[in-house]
Amino acid sequence: MTKVFKFGGASIKDAAAIRHLGELLGGFRGHPLVVVISAMGKTTNALEALLEAMRSDQQDDYRDRLERLEADHLATVEALFGSEAGDLRDRIRSLFAELDQRHRAYCHEDRALHYDQTIGYGELLSTTIVAAWLEESGIATRWLDARDLIITDASHQAANIDWQATAQRVGELEVDSEKLLVTQGFIGSTRDGLSTSLGREGSDFSAAILAYCLDAEDATFWKDVPGLFNADPRRFDNAVPLAHLSYAETIELAWHGAKVIHPKTLAPLQRKSIPLVVRSFETPDAAGSLIDDDTRNDGEHPACILSEGQTLLEVHPRDLAFMDEARQYHILGRLVEAGLHAELIDGGATRLLLCLDSHPARLEQLVQSLSVDYDMARQDDLTLLTVRHPSASLLAGLSEGREILAERRNATTAQYLFHTRECPEAWHIPE
Ligand code: ASP
Ligand code: MG
Repeated sequence: MTKVFKFGGASIKDAAAIRHLGELLGGFRGHPLVVVISAMGKTTNALEALLEAMRSDQQDDYRDRLERLEADHLATVEALFGSEAGDLRDRIRSLFAELDQRHRAYCHEDRALHYDQTIGYGELLSTTIVAAWLEESGIATRWLDARDLIITDASHQAANIDWQATAQRVGELEVDSEKLLVTQGFIGSTRDGLSTSLGREGSDFSAAILAYCLDAEDATFWKDVPGLFNADPRRFDNAVPLAHLSYAETIELAWHGAKVIHPKTLAPLQRKSIPLVVRSFETPDAAGSLIDDDTRNDGEHPACILSEGQTLLEVHPRDLAFMDEARQYHILGRLVEAGLHAELIDGGATRLLLCLDSHPARLEQLVQSLSVDYDMARQDDLTLLTVRHPSASLLAGLSEGREILAERRNATTAQYLFHTRECPEAWHIPE
């Protein structure tokens, strides 16, 4: 049965990393394997900056950025292949020429459309280099264009999967133990062949889509962390690795902002009970985290998630009326129209509290539209702490000495909103 692997940008960030990837994949020879790859390192950020330069007509800046990105990719090719690089070097150059052409063709179009016609070049470049390197390392490889496989609607930058068309395309693939298949994460296309993208960090989702359509044996996300933790180890000094979680628990963690897995990823895997393994490409022998149907280990360790840059809106009816369902419906409708998401909603008799991701332009739009009918108070620079499976003493320890601006609690989850200035650099999860 087929395995699906996904490698993020860090695992192919330079020639040494790509060599390491080749060795790792060499260990899976003889197994039907589909490998989904992101753009190298921070290439997608660089492509976004390139887009901005083009759209603001900063032609010199645009040229510089394009040349730098091309030079970076060519340097990786050079480091891997040396004087043998001729053919590959030409292919990389022609991808950059194509990228430049697309920028010129789409720069006067809608931004999201322009974005999607250019942003996928990071993945097109990285997979071209990686596929060539795998061949060079004696691993028979076939490069696939994900835009022929992942079919979506035309909601640019956050395209929705056309599952029927995608299943049909993927179903036609020949997956066998002879040739490893390499394709891009993050991108797809409409039925009419217009490129689309699935949202930043969408390669996890791409891998899950392919695993679903291939009825894969399992999916493995090779990351620069050794698996899932109960808190971000960079922010919590006593975070512990989680060996096993259910899909449902992982979806909760991702939904509340844990950054390890793209939230849309789990549903397709869960639907077909395809196990997901998250492990480190740096220490490939370590077991990592297993995610499947089994809920037995959920909640063994309380999990903490920080979302910074939050804004709290307090909304009151002007006419001294109650904050009833009709008013909540009205306010939440405006929220949806503004394209915002509330991490915490708390209703009272005469007020509604909304804790929102700071998104200056959209927030401004929401505040303006609501202030026509409501009295509003707003606080910025806040941190939301979400805790799964907390004990009372743990919550007391985490909130001690900090003003709680809003809170919400149910049987499994507690959320507290704090001033960021009152939060520590390094958090500690109390016993
Ligand atoms: N390269 C894309 C990004 O950086 C997709 C991904 O890495 O998952 O957002
Ligand atoms: Mg990436």
